[in-house]
Amino acid sequence: MVEHSSGGGISADGATARVADSAAQSWQEGIGRAVFAVRHASLLALAACAALIPAVGPDRAQLALAVLCVALPWDLAVHWWSRRRGRLPLVMPYASQVLGAGFVMLAPAIFVPALLVLVADIGLAAAVFGRRVAATAVALGTVLLGVAAFGVEGGDRIIGMSGYVIAASGLVIAVGALFEDERRLRHRHLALLGDVDVIVWEATPTPCRFTYVSGGALDILGYAPRMWEQDHFWQDHLHPEDRDWVLDQDSKAIDEGRDHELEYRMIAADGRVVYLRDLVTVVTDHNNRTVSLRGVMVDITAQRQAEQRVRLYADLVERIQMALLVVRLTDPDDPETFEIVAVNPEARELSITPDDDVVGQRLLQAFPSLASLELHSHLAEVARRGEPYDLDDIVHDTGDQQERHFSVHAFPLEGGMVGVSLDDVTGRSMAAQALRRQATHDALTGLPNRALMNDRLRQALREAARTDTSVALLMMDLDQFKEINDALGHHAGDNLLIALSRRLELVLRDADTIARLGGDEFGVLLTTDATHSGAVTVARRITEALEQPFELDGLSLQTNASVGIALYPGHAEDPEALTKRADVAMYLAKRSSRPYAVYDPGQDRSSVRRVTLLGELRRALDFDELVLFHQPAFDLRTGEIAGTEALVRWQHPEHGLMAPGEFVDLAEVSGMIQPLTRWAIRTAVQHAQSWAHEGPPSVGVAVNLSVRNLYDAELTRWLSELLVETGFPPSLITLEITESEVMDDPFLAVEVLGQLHDLGVHTSIDDFGTGQSSLSYLKHLPIDEIKIDRSFVGGMSTCASDATIVRAIIDLGHNLGLQVVAEGVEDDDMVTRLRSLGCDRAQGFHLSKPLASDDVTHVLQQERLRVPLLHR
Ligand code: C2E
Ligand code: CA
Ligand code: CA
Repeated sequence: MVEHSSGGGISADGATARVADSAAQSWQEGIGRAVFAVRHASLLALAACAALIPAVGPDRAQLALAVLCVALPWDLAVHWWSRRRGRLPLVMPYASQVLGAGFVMLAPAIFVPALLVLVADIGLAAAVFGRRVAATAVALGTVLLGVAAFGVEGGDRIIGMSGYVIAASGLVIAVGALFEDERRLRHRHLALLGDVDVIVWEATPTPCRFTYVSGGALDILGYAPRMWEQDHFWQDHLHPEDRDWVLDQDSKAIDEGRDHELEYRMIAADGRVVYLRDLVTVVTDHNNRTVSLRGVMVDITAQRQAEQRVRLYADLVERIQMALLVVRLTDPDDPETFEIVAVNPEARELSITPDDDVVGQRLLQAFPSLASLELHSHLAEVARRGEPYDLDDIVHDTGDQQERHFSVHAFPLEGGMVGVSLDDVTGRSMAAQALRRQATHDALTGLPNRALMNDRLRQALREAARTDTSVALLMMDLDQFKEINDALGHHAGDNLLIALSRRLELVLRDADTIARLGGDEFGVLLTTDATHSGAVTVARRITEALEQPFELDGLSLQTNASVGIALYPGHAEDPEALTKRADVAMYLAKRSSRPYAVYDPGQDRSSVRRVTLLGELRRALDFDELVLFHQPAFDLRTGEIAGTEALVRWQHPEHGLMAPGEFVDLAEVSGMIQPLTRWAIRTAVQHAQSWAHEGPPSVGVAVNLSVRNLYDAELTRWLSELLVETGFPPSLITLEITESEVMDDPFLAVEVLGQLHDLGVHTSIDDFGTGQSSLSYLKHLPIDEIKIDRSFVGGMSTCASDATIVRAIIDLGHNLGLQVVAEGVEDDDMVTRLRSLGCDRAQGFHLSKPLASDDVTHVLQQERLRVPLLHR
C-alpha cells in the first residue's frame, strides 16, 4: 500500500485513505532523514577507507574516487528527490544493488563489506517498500553480485554469496513482516482516528507547531491536516473574540505543565463558526519540561446551538406577555387536583400571591378567580385525550373591580402534563363589546336600534307563546320632524331626537323596550300589561309627554307623534306581521290626524297596500316611474288655452297608472314630497319648453305645492337656480297651494309665497272656498290667482247657495285684483254661467282632460284649438 501512495486510495473510504496517505508520507520522511544521514556518512567513510587502507588493493584510489563521484552524488540526488516527493524512490533498493555489484567488480577486495552494506540496504527496502520489492532487490543483487564477484577467490565467493542470500532473505522475511505488521497497525490506528468525529492532534510546545493532525480536521473545519503545520495556523483561525484569552490560558497551562480543557470557536474554511472543546494533554519529561502536546478537539457546535435555543426559549417564556403554566393532574379522577409544575412571570402575576412561588400549589388555590370548574374539567379532558382545547373568554377578576378577559389554549405535554396559555384579550373583548353595542344601538340617542328591537320582539313573542301572555308593539312617527330638520338644520333635529328619547324613556317602564328604528320613527315593545287598554295608556302617555315643547338652544320646539298599536296574539302571531300591523295602524293614525290608532283588520287591505307603496315611492322617483300630465285651463273670453296645470301620476309596475290621491299624502308623510315637487317643477318646465317648439315658451305651467314644501328652506333658491339654468320665464310658472294648507301655517305661507312672488313666479290658492280663510288675511297673501273649488262649481247649476258662493268668490277675487279660475267644469252649462259671472278661466274634463305632454304638443299645434262650445 505504501508503494502506491501516489496512486490514490485503496479504500472505499476516502477519509481513511487520506489519513493513511499523509501518515505514511510523514513516516517515510522520518525514515528518509535518518537513512540518508547514515548513508551519506557511510559513503564518505567508505571513500576514506578505500583511499587509506592498502589491503583494499592497488585500485583503491580509483575506488575512493568512484565512491565520491558516483555513489555519493547518486545518494544525494535520491535524497533530494525524496525530500521533494516526501517519499523514497522505488528505484532506490535496485540501484543500491547495482552500485554495490559495480564496486565489487571494481575492487574484489571489498566483496565482504559490500555484501554487508547491501544486506543492510535490503533490510531498509523491506522496512520501507515491503517484502515484494525487497525480495526482488535480493534476486537482482544475487544475480549481479554473482557476476561481479568473479574476481573474488572461489571459496570466499561461494560462502559470501550464500551468506548474502541467507541474510538478505531472512531480513526480507523478518523485517518485512515486522514492518508490514507495524504498518497495518498504524493504518488501522489512523483509520480509526479518521473515523471518529474529533480532531486528534500532536504539537511541539515552543514554538507551538502541529506535528500531527487527524483527518477529522478536514471534516470538521475544512482544513487539510497538512495546513495545520504552517506557523500560527491554529492561532490565525481562532475566532477573533476568543483568540486572546485562549492563547493566554493555553500558554499558562503549558508553562505549568498542566493538562487542561478549553472551549473556543474557530472559523472554518467556509466561514462557519465552529465551537470546539479542546482537551489538551501536556507531555513532560523527567525534568518536568514540556516536550510535546497532545489533544483532542471535539465539535460541540450542535450542542452549543441547542443550548442557545433552549436559552432563547427560556427567555421567551420569561418575557412573553402571555401567561404560561404547566400543570399536572395528581389524581386522574379528580379534575380539581391540578398542581402547578411551572409558571412564567406573567402567569405568576395573575396568581393570588404574585410575590411567592406558586409551583407545587393547587391550580384552584393559586388562581381561584380564574380556575373555574369549567376550566378544570377541560384541562382534565386535555390530559386524558391528549388533544388541545381552546376556551374563548375566561373572565379573571383582578380584585380591583376590573375584569380581564383571557383566551385560553390548553395543550398536552409529555408525561401527562398540560400546558396552558392565557392570552389577555381584554382590549379586544372591550372593542368587541363596543362593536356589539354599535351594532345593536342607535349612535345618536343610545337607544336600541331596529336590529335589537327585532331581536327582542322575537324573544318576547317566543316567551309570550310559552307563558300564554300578550305583547304589544307600538310604532311611532313624529309628525313635523322633517320640517324641523329642514328648517333649523340637522343639529337642532338631532338635539330634539335626543331630548325626546330621554323623555320617552321616563314615561316607560324599565321592562319596556324603546328603540329608534330610523329617522323620526320609534318603536316600543311592551311585555308587561300588554293588553289593548295597557297599550293605549302607554300611547297616550307618549303623546302627552310630547305636548310640552322642548327648549333647545333657545328655541322652543314642539312635535307631535302618531302612534300605531298592534297586539300579539290578537293581531298577528309572528314578528314580521306584528311589525307590519303596527305600521299600518300608525299610518291610519296619521291619516286620520289622531294621536294613536289600534290596528283594525277592516282597514288593513288598503293600509297594507299603502305601507308597501310608501316603501316603493323612492324607487318610483329613482326609476322614472312618475309621469307628469297636464290639464289645460282656458281663457273664458277668448277660448284660448291660458295655461296648463301639471298633475303627477305613478306608472306603477303592478298597479298601473296611479292617481296622485293614492300617493301624494304618502310622499308628504315620508318626506318624499320635497324631491317629488322639485321633480314636478323641473319636468313641467322641460315640457313647456318642448311645447314651444324651439321658439320662446308661451304657455304657462302650474305646479301644485304641498304645505310641507313651505318648510323647505331651500326651495326658493333652488327655483331661482332652475330659472337661471333653463332660462324659463318665471312669469310662466304658477305655484298652487290649497287654501286649507295655507291655513295650516298662515305666517309661513305669507313668507314663502312672498319669496316666490319676488322671484316673479305666480302664486295661486287652490280649492278656494273650503279652507275658511279670513278675508282680511287673504288681503295680505302675496298671490295672483284663486281657484274656486270644484265642489262649488259642480253644484252651481243645482244648488243656489253654491252659485252664490261662486259669484261671491269671483267678485272677491276681482276686488283684490286676482285672476279667478273655476275648476271641475264638467258641462256646457257651467261654462256659460261662469262666463256670465265674469270668471276669468275655466278648467275641467268637459274642456280637456289631463293630457300626456306629447298630446299637449298636438293640441297646441292645432293653432290654439278653441273649444267649440265656447263659440256657441
Ligand atoms: P287639484 O290640484 O285640485 O287638481 C285637479 C284635480 O281635479 C285633478 O285630479 C284633475 O284630474 C281633477 N279634475 C280636473 N277636471 C275635473 C272635472 O271636470 N271633474 C272632476 N271631478 N275632477 C276634475 P288629480 O290629477 O287626481 O289630482 C288630485 C290632486 O292631487 C290635485 O288636486 C292636487 O292637489 C294633487 N296633486 C296632483 N299633482 C300634484 C303634484 O305634483 N304635487 C302635489 N303636491 N299635489 C299634486
Ligand atoms: Ca291644483
Ligand atoms: Ca284644485
